[in-house]
Amino acid sequence: MTRIDLHTHSTASDGTDSPVELVRKATQAHLAVLALTDHDTLDGLEAAQQEAERQGITFVRGCEISTATPWGEAHFLGLWIPDDKEKTASLEAALAEVRKKRKERNIHIAEKLQELGMDVTYEAAAALAGGRVVGRPHFAELLCRMGVVENRREAFKRFLGKDGLAFVPRQLMSPEKAVTLLKDAGALVSMAHPRLLHAPVEELDSLVAQLKDKGLDALEAYHSEHDAGDVRICVEIAARHHLQLSGGSDYHGDAKPKIYIGRGKGNLRVGMSVYDELMNYRLTAGIGSR
Ligand code: AMP
Ligand code: ZN
Ligand code: FE
Ligand code: FE
Repeated sequence: MTRIDLHTHSTASDGTDSPVELVRKATQAHLAVLALTDHDTLDGLEAAQQEAERQGITFVRGCEISTATPWGEAHFLGLWIPDDKEKTASLEAALAEVRKKRKERNIHIAEKLQELGMDVTYEAAAALAGGRVVGRPHFAELLCRMGVVENRREAFKRFLGKDGLAFVPRQLMSPEKAVTLLKDAGALVSMAHPRLLHAPVEELDSLVAQLKDKGLDALEAYHSEHDAGDVRICVEIAARHHLQLSGGSDYHGDAKPKIYIGRGKGNLRVGMSVYDELMNYRLTAGIGSR
């Protein structure tokens, strides 16, 4: 079976392979199609696209946006984001704002840790991230290295997690905003790993119905963290609301060492038919570039 992968991350966000390395790995894994869907940025797309042309693999320009819901974070993938600065200007501006808010949150975390008497700075966390997205895992690593905690789990439990002493929530946009932003940029919009949302099926169904009205096109039924039951639920909800299906591994390189590109935890199979159906849908709905 020819495989595809429509959900991956590179060093442009929190993955560990550069966009070029990622495309090479996808080629080595004999994937026919690869989408790069970094969190909150389009920065890796150009390099990946150029390498894809050299390697002869079909490339899909994407990104992933996190949003807040009553059941936790819901993530949305923009796929086939047009290679057109004018069309993506509003999306780029919104993503820049998201990145700025993350930085402000990180500085706030560092301040709280300092107030607790710890010698932790935002700069130290950023240095540890080495140009990648700075987040709580970097503060956890700093606390481990300082010997304040034994391990990352303890760092989250005592300081960085929801009930921790230095917890600062991220301010995320609404699902409606994310769908509208991606849609207005000309992308195909898929709800990522819908079953990772801690919502009962009926509530997920009504959220999906509501977002369909804002332009949601697809559900990511096939994902490394979805079991057969999750896939079935997504397929049923998608059928009920006449939505398309997408699928991908959510590969992050060594940041998630048990997840393989194109294969997930080993038994993920996203076939070419998923790509073909999305392409047909794009043609009829007039979505995206090329
Ligand atoms: P951030 O994006 O800065 O809020 O950090 C989120 C990341 O922190 C997640 O991707 C996880 O890798 C990590 N994380 C969140 N909660 C925990 C936890 N309880 N234990 C270990 N790592 C966690
Ligand atoms: Zn990630
Ligand atoms: Fe996600
Ligand atoms: Fe992801």
